[in-house]
Amino acid sequence: MFMLKDGFGRVVENIRVSVTQRCNFKCFYCHREGDNRLTYDEMLPEEIERIIRVAASLGIHGVKLTGGEPLLRSDILEIISRISRIPGINDISMTTNGFLLKDYADDLKKAGLMRVNVSLDTLDAEKFRMITGVDGHESVVNGIIKAAKANLRPVKINMVILKGVNEDEVDDMVRFAGENGLVLQIIEFEWPRIDSVYEKYHADITDIENRIRKKSAKTIIRQMHHRRKYVLEDGTEVEFVKPMHNSEFCLHCNRIRLTSDGKLKPCLFKNNNLVDILSPLRGGADDDKLREAFIEAVNRRRPFFFT
Ligand code: SAM
Ligand code: SF4
Repeated sequence: MFMLKDGFGRVVENIRVSVTQRCNFKCFYCHREGDNRLTYDEMLPEEIERIIRVAASLGIHGVKLTGGEPLLRSDILEIISRISRIPGINDISMTTNGFLLKDYADDLKKAGLMRVNVSLDTLDAEKFRMITGVDGHESVVNGIIKAAKANLRPVKINMVILKGVNEDEVDDMVRFAGENGLVLQIIEFEWPRIDSVYEKYHADITDIENRIRKKSAKTIIRQMHHRRKYVLEDGTEVEFVKPMHNSEFCLHCNRIRLTSDGKLKPCLFKNNNLVDILSPLRGGADDDKLREAFIEAVNRRRPFFFT
């Protein structure tokens, strides 16, 4: 079995595919998957399928759909169902803001989506509006509950910790996750620069993690980024994502990204090393040529935080 390995010995097994740059929210902290270009050229479902087929032939087995907001794509079910038929792909998930999830959950499951991450930083409707610019808290909570009922398992809540905004809500969110059978993912605010936004909102989440660890019955170290997951006495799972200045995180990074306009992106934090795969595909390139694009992108991977 072929393995895509970079110059630092990291095997690439997952791909994070942005299917659109469009979004119906305006989260003030959004890193836009590290892609600030305003591009509205989106890959067609059959183009995404072809690229994932090539990825699968190189040993990639996990696909996460993201954006922008992936549920804004009117053909999202077709995209998922095409990916779900590709031999070798055994994990298909999505990260969504959840606003449209209530109406989509059952069909997403039927199309082949296995699990879902829903972004929810607060349980307070007013704070939600302040963070996202949208009056949508209730819709998102309903979407989360519907996704759990549709058996998209696990449903993970992505909670980005923002200094002075929601640090005080972790216990409430743990309770909410426990009551609804969800996994809580606590995410450190990531920012490519140390500027006034970073200074204002970045919080060190070590204390929160230590507090959760003390209450936990078991710790699991996940392969991806060596993320730590704590299982509490009542079975609730709380996972921590701490990328900033974390060389261990980068050392265990096993993913590559694909931008919505078809560029392979070796690292969230870098934009000057993209490899265009869509143009050759549209120009009639065969699978070997597309595999070369993957190999080139993987060769360009460097741990961003490296000691
Ligand atoms: N629109 C979808 C959503 O909100 O889930 C998918 C795209 S969004 C860019 C993907 C994930 O990145 C979300 O969970 C979001 O909370 C997270 N995210 C966005 N900006 C971030 C930042 N500056 N630091 C950490 N996580 C961030
Ligand atoms: Fe960014 Fe997602 Fe918020 Fe849209 S919903 S602004 S993509 S974090």
